[in-house]
Amino acid sequence: MDFDLTEEQEAIRKTAREFAEKEIRPVVSEYDQKEEFPWPIVKKLAELGFLGMIIPEKYGGTDAGNVALALTIMEVSRVCASTGVTLSVHNSLLSNPLLKFGTEEQKKKYLPKLASGEWIGAYALTESTAGSDAAALKTTAVKKGDRYVLNGSKVWITNAGVGEVIITFAVTDKEARRGHNITAFIFEKNFKGFNVGTHEKKLGIRAANTVELSYDDLEIPEENLLGEYNEGFKIAMDTLDGGRIGIASQACGILMGCLEESVKYAKERKQFGKPIAAFQPIQWMIAEMAMELDAAKLLTLRAAHLKDLGVRHTIEASMAKLFSSTACNKAANNAVQIFGGYGYTKEYPVERFYRDAKITELYEGTSEIQNIVISRAFLRD
Ligand SMILES: Cc1cc2nc3c(=O)[nH]c(=O)nc-3n(C[C@H](O)[C@H](O)[C@H](O)COP(=O)(O)OP(=O)(O)OC[C@H]3O[C@@H](n4cnc5c(N)ncnc54)[C@H](O)[C@@H]3O)c2cc1C
Repeated sequence: MDFDLTEEQEAIRKTAREFAEKEIRPVVSEYDQKEEFPWPIVKKLAELGFLGMIIPEKYGGTDAGNVALALTIMEVSRVCASTGVTLSVHNSLLSNPLLKFGTEEQKKKYLPKLASGEWIGAYALTESTAGSDAAALKTTAVKKGDRYVLNGSKVWITNAGVGEVIITFAVTDKEARRGHNITAFIFEKNFKGFNVGTHEKKLGIRAANTVELSYDDLEIPEENLLGEYNEGFKIAMDTLDGGRIGIASQACGILMGCLEESVKYAKERKQFGKPIAAFQPIQWMIAEMAMELDAAKLLTLRAAHLKDLGVRHTIEASMAKLFSSTACNKAANNAVQIFGGYGYTKEYPVERFYRDAKITELYEGTSEIQNIVISRAFLRD
């Protein structure tokens, strides 16, 4: 069993770390406070090839793979979780299903623009009454001539306000059975009938773009149907298997940040005449963070490795996301504890980590949903 990264993966990880330190760290707090999408950072990430990491070279990507993508999201999220999710959604929720389910024409049309970062991508599944129960969508698509006409709305869609291309899901056959009545579509920002709401004000990942979408007779040409008619729900779920590795990586990154900041502060801060690192409760919190970070990274990289091998990874991705997000929230809570009152202020990054951590337990399937996915695999007859 080989736990070592390849030379290429290690080089990519190192580049991502250097980039995050040099380009993101100096401005991360400002973007968070202004709740502004970090365009200059995203453009530079594109120049480094980080927006086309799982896209083959023939479509303009770097084909670096899912392990390299996970490492990159970890390194970026260690400094800025908002940029981490931007990267994750673009690569794993858009490029990935296009690559897997798209026609050759669709791949040629969209992948090069996504790989170069000329276009940012989004994935629009959730609706106000269909969150965890994603099969309960109300958005409809009706065929009219050579196009589909969509009506409905989507909520909390990452990247959609800054993106040019979106994969979405709509009910195409009300009579068909649940889960076999939904079709996936690709559409572009400039298609008629598409409206973007205002940027959501959020607890954390405040620089990540999150918007509501409305489809008022949104016209999508039939060649933009993704995969099979009425089989879009499978595409949605398959895509989330990859997306969950991205969110697990984001959680690992936040956890890395919490551990490093906590270690540094615990050695510097003195109370009762000694550094607080000399006190056992602080040592135990740090030990727990370090151990859980290792376990979270191993689970996450295992899932990414399976994805690179083309092996089904539904359970492994759910385990990685559930474990990493739980550990990340515990670590963020303990990091603020270690910082005491200073941890509650914007003077130190742990305040932001604490706010950013929570989302990892919510999106791309809540922790309760991950538990259902994992336990079902064991309890099924
Ligand atoms: C910042 C942000 C970004 C997002 N980005 C995207 C995006 O890019 N694209 C997209 O499509 N969606 C996106 N989402 C939506 C996200 O995936 C959903 O919020 C999430 O799946 C949960 O759905 P919900 O919020 O409707 O919660 P609900 O489904 O209403 O759940 C509420 C609570 O009930 C629990 N629950 C529900 N069902 C069960 C059950 N069967 N058993 C036990 N407990 C249950 C949940 O775990 C949760 O604790 C985003 C959300 C946020 C907040």
